[in-house]
Amino acid sequence: MELACLDLEGVLIPEIWIAFAEKTGIKELRATTRDVPDYDVLMRQRLRILDEHGLKLPDIQAVIATLEPLPGAIEFTNWLRERFQLVILSDTFYEFAMPLMKQLGYPTLLCHKLEVDADGRVVDYKLRQRDPKRQSVRAFQLLNYRVIAAGDSYNDTTMLAQAEQGILFHAPQNVIEEFPQFPAVHTYDDLKKAFINASNRELSL
Ligand SMILES: [Mg+2]
Repeated sequence: MELACLDLEGVLIPEIWIAFAEKTGIKELRATTRDVPDYDVLMRQRLRILDEHGLKLPDIQAVIATLEPLPGAIEFTNWLRERFQLVILSDTFYEFAMPLMKQLGYPTLLCHKLEVDADGRVVDYKLRQRDPKRQSVRAFQLLNYRVIAAGDSYNDTTMLAQAEQGILFHAPQNVIEEFPQFPAVHTYDDLKKAFINASNRELSL
């Protein structure tokens, strides 16, 4: 039995915080783990900025709902789901991802949760567990699934290593060079071929 695990941001949808920063014009929200390596510090900063701009969860979701999956992502997701059971493993939050998941037909998503008060203010966040993508792949393997995983960044590499086959998609050059053990592809057509190659079944495009 084979399972496909996909990262979400950068693979099927744009980076939510960056797209949100562009839509709202709030430049400070463009910061990512590349600028602020400590994720907790980065998230506290993001929540503080949302507060300063008086942005509550429904406002944020309304902006996110205007974003679209990456061109070709819907077709690719449909293609993949005809051939594999698909689970999306992401470091985003359900409350942010849902408007975009709707456009992708609500595939299974394992990610993190926000804490929101009665007024809709985002007060905190809850990470599901440490190293969640790799732990998810491990758990699927315990259920006798053979896992093929694809992602675009550093936070995917433990998942790619744990999977029977890992694939880099849309990855920046420094990640590709640092992890030469994973095939690197840049288009959905090549990603389909990479999944077919990694499968132990006879699949066609
Ligand atoms: Mg990503």
